[in-house]
Order: sequence, then C-alpha cells, then structure tokens
Amino acid sequence: MKTIILFALIILVIYLTRVYWKRRKKAEYRLVNGYWQVKGRNGIWEYVHRKVAAWKVGGKIWKGREVHHRDGNKRNNRPENLWIMPKPEHQKIHKKNK
Ligand SMILES: [Zn+2]
Repeated sequence: MKTIILFALIILVIYLTRVYWKRRKKAEYRLVNGYWQVKGRNGIWEYVHRKVAAWKVGGKIWKGREVHHRDGNKRNNRPENLWIMPKPEHQKIHKKNK
C-alpha cells in the first residue's frame, strides 16, 4: 500500500513540474514600433517597459503618464533606464532631441 502512495506522489510531482515548465515557456514576445511587448495570460499584449516601470514604483502607472527610455534605446527595459513622467514633459524631451 505504501508503495502505491509513493508511486502516486512521484507521478504527481512529475506532472506538476511539467505544467510549471509549460507555463514558463508560454511567455510570448514581439516587437511593435521598436518596443517589446509581452503576451499576458489573458491574451492581451502589453508593453514590457510599462510593466517594468510599474513594477519599479510598486504598482500602476498613473493615467496621463508615459515611460521614457533615458538612453534613447526603446528596447533597453532595465529599470534604471526607465523614467515615468507626465505626457507633456515627455513630449518636450523628444522635441528637444530632434
Ligand atoms: Zn521617451
């Protein structure tokens, strides 16, 4: 009897690790206008830089705010490269650089 329980447990563990790896592999990415997007579990594509910036401030990005890439590289989504700022200020920065 004990061996059966042990056997069932082993199968359960194997099954769970398989499900876990499948979920991890599922993450899909794509480039849109030079920005990385990631597909969420709900099937909605989201900008990675906005997700990283939201995570950096520990919550959500307020309405009317945009995320700026400090080094100008749209694909550099490291937290230290991202700045959250109001839309008008953000537009000013980009006008200056032109
Ligand atoms: Zn910007």
